[in-house]
Amino acid sequence: MKSPGAFFVSYVTCMIVSGTLALSGERIGSQAFVSDLLSRMTIEEKVGQMTQVTLDVISKTEALQDRPHELDPEKLRRAIVQHNVGSIFNVVTSGHTLDHWNDIISAIQDVATKETRLHIPVLYGIDAVHGANYTLGGTVFPQALGMAATWNRDLVRKEGEITAYEMRASGIPWNFYPVLDLGRQPLWPRVWETFGEDVYLTSAMGRAYIEGHQGDSLSATGKGAVCLKHYIGYSFPITGKDRTAAWISERALREYFLPPFEEGLAAGATTVMVNSSEVDGIPGHANYHLLTEVLRRELGFFGLVVSDWQDIERLHTRDHVAATPKEAVRMAVMAGVDMSMVPLDFRFYDLLLECVKDRSVPISRIDEAVSRILWVKYQLALFEKPYPDKSLNAGFASKEFSAANLQAAEESITLLKNERRLLPLSKKMKVLVTGPAATMLSSLNGGWTITWQGNREDLYPKDKPTILAAIQTKIGREHVTHVAGATFDKVLDLAGAANAAKKADVVVVCLGESTYCETPGNIVDLTLADPQLQLAEALMKTGKPVVVLLLEGRPRIIRQITDGARAILMGYLPGMEGGTALANVLFGDVCPSGRLPVTYPRYPNDLTCYDFKSLDSADGKAYNPEFPFGYGLSYTTFTYSDLKLDRTTMHVRDTLRIEVTVTNTGSVAGKEVVQLYLHDDYSSISRPVRQLKGFSKVYLEPGQKKTVQFTLTAPSLSFIGQMNRRIVEPGGFHVMIEKLSADFLLE
Ligand code: BGC
Repeated sequence: MKSPGAFFVSYVTCMIVSGTLALSGERIGSQAFVSDLLSRMTIEEKVGQMTQVTLDVISKTEALQDRPHELDPEKLRRAIVQHNVGSIFNVVTSGHTLDHWNDIISAIQDVATKETRLHIPVLYGIDAVHGANYTLGGTVFPQALGMAATWNRDLVRKEGEITAYEMRASGIPWNFYPVLDLGRQPLWPRVWETFGEDVYLTSAMGRAYIEGHQGDSLSATGKGAVCLKHYIGYSFPITGKDRTAAWISERALREYFLPPFEEGLAAGATTVMVNSSEVDGIPGHANYHLLTEVLRRELGFFGLVVSDWQDIERLHTRDHVAATPKEAVRMAVMAGVDMSMVPLDFRFYDLLLECVKDRSVPISRIDEAVSRILWVKYQLALFEKPYPDKSLNAGFASKEFSAANLQAAEESITLLKNERRLLPLSKKMKVLVTGPAATMLSSLNGGWTITWQGNREDLYPKDKPTILAAIQTKIGREHVTHVAGATFDKVLDLAGAANAAKKADVVVVCLGESTYCETPGNIVDLTLADPQLQLAEALMKTGKPVVVLLLEGRPRIIRQITDGARAILMGYLPGMEGGTALANVLFGDVCPSGRLPVTYPRYPNDLTCYDFKSLDSADGKAYNPEFPFGYGLSYTTFTYSDLKLDRTTMHVRDTLRIEVTVTNTGSVAGKEVVQLYLHDDYSSISRPVRQLKGFSKVYLEPGQKKTVQFTLTAPSLSFIGQMNRRIVEPGGFHVMIEKLSADFLLE
């Protein structure tokens, strides 16, 4: 039983200190530069820096009709020379070649640095959310949910590195990524942009990505700024639909949703994007408490806060918390937004100028915002090197990058069922490949790929294989038949598919979701579309073994076909190398090692996350998913032994060392994800039955064993107490690794 005393702790105490130190030297140097520049700026120049518009605003409108993109020199000057615009972002309709990006960025910087009074370079931003997805031919990785399923920090760090490199090669220094929202609402159409449902896993992956992307210095070759989004609470809408209201108490916000952002800031993230919807009735862009009191004062963030798309205006038009557009601008800027993603006109610029002139926004607030923007530009060395770094072009989309991407895709694939060891398949088998996801690269990539919705199949690279093509290459075309069977939402030919199945040794049915991004991905039913379930059932009725491949951005319910499937592989959205990766896993060239970063629900109305509370289990059925968080099978077997703690009693300043031995007891080499969970016996706030507190991915040859070590310190035992502050309470704790467990006491 716990004693009443509690200690206050910071979740990332040590990391915040080191993160701040790492940047403080550069900060001092940049401060003098920024203050000097600021002192020479007019109000118009300052307000312009706070204005961000899309590439559309400076492009010829014909691009909208799908003609080759072209900048409009007159519009460009109108934005940069007349309105002093500080930032431009995105694409018009689709991605560009590396050369075209170089031309666009060079033309923009030419005007900004040669035709304006103070020569301030433009900060270009883009959603490179799974690699340089808007530069044609770039290295396009699995989407975040798949990256999280690798449980491999090194791969996520590598993704960050490669993305920053290819963006800088394109001339783009600022990435609106990573998404550190938690994917705890499976209906939400942006779950695949997250690292899943867990606080610890998301924090760890976020940190790894930021370290890779930003490196030690944003000015180093091939490094760029990240943007943590969407601060905060965006991912947990009650309705499950995008950009709808969330109700999250201050305590829950700090317990679940804030820690990944804290970790991201501690890792040195330089920019943050605001939650596009609202929490507890307060729109993200009007939330002074979260944007200023928490983010700035408590967490010490000194970088730039950018709004999300049109969201300042929406305080008036959608949320009706501001009676006029001007009031919306005043409200957002005073709440703590430094830059407005306006993004299609200059209204923000005009209205903010009015606010400064009538003093409803003090100049001190403008100076603060502009300093942060200039600071980011300075960190990126844009003042010295505003142009694309052409020395990077040679390494763009290199073989080494594709190899890292392939490994990421392979390690993401999660084997959920393998009855009577159907997998791996023999390369001599006759295989029927069917289902809507078999022949489309867009099904492997999802949104934010070449276009916003990712659905322009015609624009995808011709040299990347679909699942069908990859299987054909793997075992020879003569061993493969293909029948579409169904589209994502329509039955095509069930009888034809079943007949083809009868002639095959095994059926691989590729199911999932057609591409979507943001609000267009809203759904009213988490169950996988019925025509696809019908196709799978028709195939199963033939008696032939059926392997289900799932290519989907959120766990769509498949209860109807789980039992009939002999094997199930979750592919998530595995990126451009996804087809090859799936074929490698199916035919045993790669041993699957992905683990679910989200709970895979069994029923549409039973959407419990793995870290539920003990009261949730009063009926004994709290957690009854199709497949639990952290789950995934292998082609080999692993045995755990010798769980040891270096002490059974710890004090608040101690480090508890934990070790466990894992042995590959099967006959093939494989990777295992060792997962450490913690349970707190008694506490003043009800605690989850278990919470992830550490993980490590290890490679083991058959018969090989390794000892894996973890450490726990007070912050790992902490939680948000009744006063909304992070505390640790003395008492008993329980450590769990696989089926082993041990107890210790915090005194
Ligand atoms: C999304 C952001 C994105 C922005 C710019 C918004 O609609 O919510 O995640 O960064 O657009 O494309």
